Amino acid sequence: MSEAAPYNFVIVGGGTAGWLAALMLQEAIAKRNMNAIVTVVESSRIPVIGVGEGSTAVFRQMLKHFGFDEFEFLRETEATIKFGIRHKDWRRKGHSYDGPIDDPHLVMEPPGTRPQSYIDIFSCAAGRRLADTHLFAYLLDQQKAPFARKADGGLVPLGPFHHAYHFDQALVGKYLRRKSSSVEMIDAEVSGARRDPASGNITALITDVGEVAGDFFIDCTGFRRSLISKVMGGKWKSFKEHLPVNRAMPFWLEHEEGAEFTPFTTAWAQGAGWMWMIPTQARMGCGYVYSDAFITPEEAKAEIEATLGRSIEPRNDLKFDIGRQETPWIGNCLALGLASSFLEPLEATSIHGTIVQLLVFTTFHMKDGVDFNAKDRDAYNAFAGRQVDDFRDFINLHYVSERRDTPFWEHVASDFRSPATRERLALWQRKMPGHEDFTPLPGHFAHTEQQLYYPVLDGLGLLNRPLAQQFMDANPTLRAKAKAAADSLTAEYRAAAPRAMGHREFLKSL
Ligand SMILES: Cc1cc2nc3c(=O)[nH]c(=O)nc-3n(C[C@H](O)[C@H](O)[C@H](O)COP(=O)(O)OP(=O)(O)OC[C@H]3O[C@@H](n4cnc5c(N)ncnc54)[C@H](O)[C@@H]3O)c2cc1C
Repeated sequence: MSEAAPYNFVIVGGGTAGWLAALMLQEAIAKRNMNAIVTVVESSRIPVIGVGEGSTAVFRQMLKHFGFDEFEFLRETEATIKFGIRHKDWRRKGHSYDGPIDDPHLVMEPPGTRPQSYIDIFSCAAGRRLADTHLFAYLLDQQKAPFARKADGGLVPLGPFHHAYHFDQALVGKYLRRKSSSVEMIDAEVSGARRDPASGNITALITDVGEVAGDFFIDCTGFRRSLISKVMGGKWKSFKEHLPVNRAMPFWLEHEEGAEFTPFTTAWAQGAGWMWMIPTQARMGCGYVYSDAFITPEEAKAEIEATLGRSIEPRNDLKFDIGRQETPWIGNCLALGLASSFLEPLEATSIHGTIVQLLVFTTFHMKDGVDFNAKDRDAYNAFAGRQVDDFRDFINLHYVSERRDTPFWEHVASDFRSPATRERLALWQRKMPGHEDFTPLPGHFAHTEQQLYYPVLDGLGLLNRPLAQQFMDANPTLRAKAKAAADSLTAEYRAAAPRAMGHREFLKSL
């Protein structure tokens, strides 16, 4: 008796999303001993998106999960360390705040039935900077590495927290591809697909080198959305009512000789949007994300040159409609990466979102084999929709600003808040933000919840200090514990940061 042919997962696209999908599907198949294979179809004639990028801590957790050597990753991808984001000029011009991504609540013994954010609430009540209890705030500010050198020359991590990275997406694609060794690869351009007339499912891809048959198709074709939109007719849900930018002008800057690599992303608010600055070891990847309803590309270039005091050479002029697929999984086609959604990269939600989507897909929808049904699709689509909508609301919050100095900032100050932002800001005038105000994702995978909201709310001056004081006055035992926790963390981290290696020195030593 001949063995059944293996189930074939065909991934179209070899950018970060495509290779992450290959790696994570391959692992899920091996773990569950499934009779399945992974094929990647990518066109060497169509370039990847190719911008300098920032990740979240989930990327490091993924490297650790796969047992990859972090130092090898840093070397091969010319990556740098990211402890958080420095937001310049968002609240008002000349004002800056940092969003460190470590959560001090994770390392303190919880005092009974305390609210999850008791250290933040205490700091707010005491009029202290919330970032003071974050190790990453000090490492970020002093441009340090997350390691110190021991007397024997070895490296010791400074804390238990996962940092994130800045990297060159093309090099990360190559790295992930090398790690997905048993995946079959076909260099071909997909121009369409054959579909089963009864189910509408894709049966084969039509490419310039012939047809590629498969059972399940993953669209990672970036902004082209070659399968999900062009073949399956997926509908796009635009977020333009609540996210104001629709254009990006990426450019590179050379590092100054010997200058430190900033271990944070700079998100610098401008007259009609904001500029990202993301260091890799090779260069500073930058870009102006703006709204062309307020300025032309020529004006955007001139504005950035005036901000930086030097000329720039734009590498591209990308136009996009911020939003997501209404249903990223249709029939036997699942969209990931830019094919599934695109939000301005203000909180590095894109690659993070793709990893979490793959975790949910492989954890909850492949566990009984590959027999997908409408229930899987509906559950996945509801999760992925909510995940990206939550990202939209978090980014929307960043625009709650005192700025009114340009038509763009007047526009975002008008009726621009998303319903969730409006509801939450009203709620947080009656109670302090807490874990209970957010709905966790299936599997409790990492998401934008109170630990990420607090630094942004604090930075934008949106926390209600009298409310925090009332809360602490009503809970004197908790206040004493929170004060002890905040004092000891602040003292410990202040003392620890100067012992860390310099960021550049660390990267160059690997
Ligand atoms: C300006 C900008 C800044 C960003 N900054 C960040 C950030 O800081 N942090 C973050 O997490 N994310 C960021 N992103 C998003 C991030 O770039 C993507 O999520 C990530 O790179 C994944 O891209 P992708 O693989 O979906 O698409 P791409 O990189 O575009 O790859 C698409 C792949 O599909 C292939 N392909 C396309 N069409 C076909 C076809 N018809 N046939 C065969 N192959 C095809 C191409 O060859 C390519 O391999 C940013 C995006 C932009 C636009």
